[in-house]
Amino acid sequence: NKEEEDKIPEEGNISVNEKTIGTATKHEFKTETKRLLDIVAKSLYSDKEVFIRELISNASDALEKVRYLQLTDETVLDETVAANPAEIHLSINKSDRTIIFQDFGIGMNEDEVNNNLGTIANSGTLAFLKKLDQSSASAKENIIGQFGVGFYSCLMVAEKVEVYTKSAHKNAKGYCWTSDGSGSYDVAEADGVTCGTKIVIHLREDCKQFADIQNVQRIIKRYSNFVQYPIVLNGKRL
Ligand code: ADP
Ligand code: MG
Repeated sequence: NKEEEDKIPEEGNISVNEKTIGTATKHEFKTETKRLLDIVAKSLYSDKEVFIRELISNASDALEKVRYLQLTDETVLDETVAANPAEIHLSINKSDRTIIFQDFGIGMNEDEVNNNLGTIANSGTLAFLKKLDQSSASAKENIIGQFGVGFYSCLMVAEKVEVYTKSAHKNAKGYCWTSDGSGSYDVAEADGVTCGTKIVIHLREDCKQFADIQNVQRIIKRYSNFVQYPIVLNGKRL
């Protein structure tokens, strides 16, 4: 029956088989990043769901970058890239309280991991901090939701975040970035990483609503109408 067929499974389909190699290097977040993390940690309940919008938007940007290279300079790309789907995959597991985002986009090399996920590189987040400084206490409440604070917003809901990423450029190595959002992050080389980025979010107990399929589907509907790439949730294309 049609309704049964359309139903999205409760348990996700993305496994985490990547393995780190050697010892991880510990990095302190920069002062500004720490400040941002303090702010997001105290964020309001109502703002938290924006992390889904932010991570989908990053996945979409990453896919766009690959598509551009495919059209302009395909020879720089790893030969596995052409076979990957231009889709954003989400996988939710209620049983182990995880939400996983995977894209087959541009990925990151080691320097990019440190620059993009260690500092505040993007202008939107810097604008956010500036605006926050200028705002009254009551106005502060709404700012995270309005601005979005990019990648770091996933630390609002996470006990721990793991990012597996491999650049789509030829001869790239895979990396694993992990953090619990409290001041530092670790980077290690990793095996078994697909070109693109897989973000594994271990949800806090008080954020387990983001491991609920209906809730996540609703949030995606609300925010991601304008995403150019198909979103696949627990194996079902939305
Ligand atoms: P913004 O998207 O505004 O640049 P974010 O904080 O959302 O800021 O992300 C910071 C940077 O991290 C991005 O500019 C990008 O370089 C990198 N990044 C984040 N997510 C991904 C991803 N899924 N694939 C590749 N790079 C990513
Ligand atoms: Mg972004």
